[in-house]
Parts: sequence; structure tokens; C-alpha cells
Amino acid sequence: MRLRFAPSPTGALHIGGVRTALYNYLLAKKHGGAFILRIEDTDQGRFVPGAEDYIKEALEWFGLAPDEGPGYGGAHGPYRQSERKALYHKYTAQLVENGRAYYAFDTPEELAAQREENPAFKYDAGARMRMKNSLTLAEEEVGRRIKEGEAHVVRLKVPTGETVSFRDQVRGQVSFDSYELDDKVLLKADGMPTYHMANVVDDYLMEITHVIRGEEWLSSTAHHVLLYQALGWEGQMPEFAHLPLILRPDGKGKLSKRDGARFGFPVFPLSWEGKTEEDSFTGMREFGFLPEAALNFLALLGWNPGTEQEIFSREELVAAFSVERINKSGTRFDIDKAKWFNQQYIIKADTDYLLERVRPVIAAHGYEPGDAFLKAFIELMRERAVTLDDFWENGYFFFEEPRAYDEKMVRKRWDPERKGLFDELAGQLHLVNNYTAGSIKAQTEAFIDERGLKFGDVLPILRLGVAGTMKGPAIFEMMELLGREEVDRRLRKAFVQFNELK
Ligand code: GLU
Repeated sequence: MRLRFAPSPTGALHIGGVRTALYNYLLAKKHGGAFILRIEDTDQGRFVPGAEDYIKEALEWFGLAPDEGPGYGGAHGPYRQSERKALYHKYTAQLVENGRAYYAFDTPEELAAQREENPAFKYDAGARMRMKNSLTLAEEEVGRRIKEGEAHVVRLKVPTGETVSFRDQVRGQVSFDSYELDDKVLLKADGMPTYHMANVVDDYLMEITHVIRGEEWLSSTAHHVLLYQALGWEGQMPEFAHLPLILRPDGKGKLSKRDGARFGFPVFPLSWEGKTEEDSFTGMREFGFLPEAALNFLALLGWNPGTEQEIFSREELVAAFSVERINKSGTRFDIDKAKWFNQQYIIKADTDYLLERVRPVIAAHGYEPGDAFLKAFIELMRERAVTLDDFWENGYFFFEEPRAYDEKMVRKRWDPERKGLFDELAGQLHLVNNYTAGSIKAQTEAFIDERGLKFGDVLPILRLGVAGTMKGPAIFEMMELLGREEVDRRLRKAFVQFNELK
């Protein structure tokens, strides 16, 4: 089995593209086949430098490195369509020779004039005989125009009165009447093939067995089937599976790249710096997603295992995946679900694995703690982090003093009359023998008992003093990790400030 992911390098790869890549990867791996990356860069007007590198980096971040592709080796290269021009010329010439395609000399202005006259104009069987092409012009005239270098394209001659059918593995039998199909351009005036021509030629030459792609390509497939027939390759036609749309969170239409900004979540795998701000996006990686969690989430965005299982490792996905269980209808992009997956992965991840991912998050704020400290920090915080950034957002006070105290809580809990009492407690804790959570706790309990206090009188104050907030991990563990001197300094300072807030 050979499957390919065939993106066009026109900018950042949308999350839907990653899902397409993933499904191709999963089916290939399930059957011990090859997963191929092919860069479809024949549209020079839409080519964006850096996009190919972005695509590769994104695939690698997800652990979906191709077996074959530009820069990955493979016996079916080159894998960039711009480097395969001669092949497309060869096969288009063959089509013209066999009467399955023709040269067309209509200028852009002439075509625009047709469209102006009739907005529904289609260059098809009904129109072709009134246009300027090798079907209507004399042979010598055609030869002369080509010799003189007149701009022309090659168009597919769609047969009339036929039904074009194929079996889609997701949708079942799909049929088009050939009168619905226009005479698609195969070779453009700039000598580049169109998507249709290059795609079919390459799928054939690269011996692709299964094509999994987005639903927007479904109607193109009719033209592709005609091309396979015209080239005499029907026997080698791949199986097709068209994926359902990814919908906006509110279910209102297709998820677009702008929806990321609109809804405040990433719809791209990695950040992308476009020419304009409008064209720049934050990635799932930069948002603090683990690649395994993002992958798991994407796998279920259009496919279901038929069981209640939700957490799947890459290996489990490979084993469980099947085209039959791809959904027919669109699936909503539910960011809360994505976050839930991330949280589950953070909770279960290996500490060493998290260490490498949390370290840069902390380093970005100027702190480079040792491994032992960072590991202990991760253990205390992992239940409270939905994204990697949350380790900082919800736990920055492990690295620096609280920026502020939760004033509302201080007002509610602090009694200035008790400042002396709390100073005394701080003094006792400072002197605790072994500065561990256990002994700090024991000492605090003894103090509470002795003074006839309640836990609720004391613990919130310690917490506010050390972290500034009521949210955070277990207070005594937190104190142990911060250390005797740091805690003492923070508490003393806090009690003074609490008096001022009151
Ligand atoms: N180049 C097309 C794209 O950008 C590929 C579609 C296909 O897989 O055939 O999505």
C-alpha cells in the first residue's frame, strides 16, 4: 500500500491538512505501507517560500515523518511537482495525440468576455466548438500558432453523454453526468500542469494505491477518473476516500483559518509568521499542546473507533484505524475537547518527557531551575495544567515572589489583630527541624491546637502569603519545595502587606 499527503505550499498548513496527513499515515502504517509527502507546487502565483519547511516541521512535530518525499529519499522522486514538468508534458502530448485533449488559444480577455455575456459560462462540450482551439481551427493554423509561440493551454476533452462513476470509500457510489463537467485545463500557458493533470500523473507514477483527501476534492475526482481512462490507466486507479469537513465550534460552516483568531484558539499546528498580521497564526505547539495529545484529538475529528475508548497512542491509532469508520458528516472542532486531551496527556506523561517540554516554557521567563526542582514542580503542578503554558501561568510563584495578593481573599481572611500570631507561626516554621512537607504540617497543626485556632484560619493565610492566590498545589509541599528561607521571607513580607490591604 502506498499513500501520499500532497499539500500545496501556499502558506501555513491548516489543521484540516494535518488530519488528512494523519489518516493517510495511519492507513499506510496499518498495512505496512509507505507514507509519502508530495509537494504540489505548480501554482506559481500561490507559492509561498517557507511553506514546505513548515509542512515538514509540522509533520515531524506530530511524529508523522514521511517514508518518501523531498529531503526524505525514495525511489519515486522527485517529489516536488515543479521538478517533474517534463513528465506532465509527455502525458499531455499523448492525450492530444489520442484525441482526448486539445490545444486552446482563447485569450484571458476572450474568456472574460464570454463570462460577462453569460455568468454561468463553462468551457465544456457545449461551448468548445465555438471557441478558438484545435478542434475548431485548421490543423496548419494550429501548427502555426504553436510554432510562433502563441500562448495556449491544453484542455481535457470531456466525452459527451456519459456517466462518470467511482466508489468513494466514505460516501459509496458517486456519479456525475459528463455534461456537468467542464473541459478542465491540463497544461497552463506558463507550461505548468494544473492540479488535475499533475495529481493524476503523479499518483500513477508514484504507484499510489489509496487517496485520502478533503471533501472539497470530491468533484475533481470525476475529472481524474476521466484522465485515468484517457491515459489507459484505469486498472491502476487508486481507491478514493473523501474526508468530511471540520466545522466551526458553533457548527455554522467550515472551520476557516480566521476562526482561530475569532474564537481564540489555534487552528494551525505551528505558529506562522505571514506577511501581515491577519496572515500570522499561533500554533498548537506554541499554545502549549503536546503533539501526542493534539494527534489523538485530530484522529477523532472525523473518525470513530466504534468503542468508548478516547485515549489512543499513535501505535493504538495505527492498529484501530479503518476507513470504514470515517464519519460521513462534518465534525465540530471542539477546543475544550482538545484541551481535555492535552490535560489527560499531561497528567499521564512521563516526568522526564514533561521536563523537556516544561523547561523551555519556564526558560522563556528567564528562569533555569535545576532538574530536581523542576521535576518536583512538575509533579505538584501537572494536575493543574491544561496546556504547557499553564505550568507558568498557574505556578510562576515557584520561581518568583507573588506579583500580587488576591485582595478579596485577603480582606476576607486576614485579621490585622492576628499579625503577631502569624509572625510567631512563621518564626516556628522557620525553625522546623527537617524542612519537609510532613514536618511543616506537624508544626502548623501543633500551633493550631495550642492556640485554639482552626485550619481555616491558618492555611489560607499561608497560601496567600506564599503564592498570592488560593489556587495552587498542596500548601506544605509547595513550602518544602520553595525552601525555608524563601518561605520565611515571603510570609514576613506578606503579613505586613496584608495589614496595608485591610
Ligand atoms: N494539492 C492538493 C491540496 O492542496 C492535494 C489534493 C489531493 O490530495 O489530491 O490539498
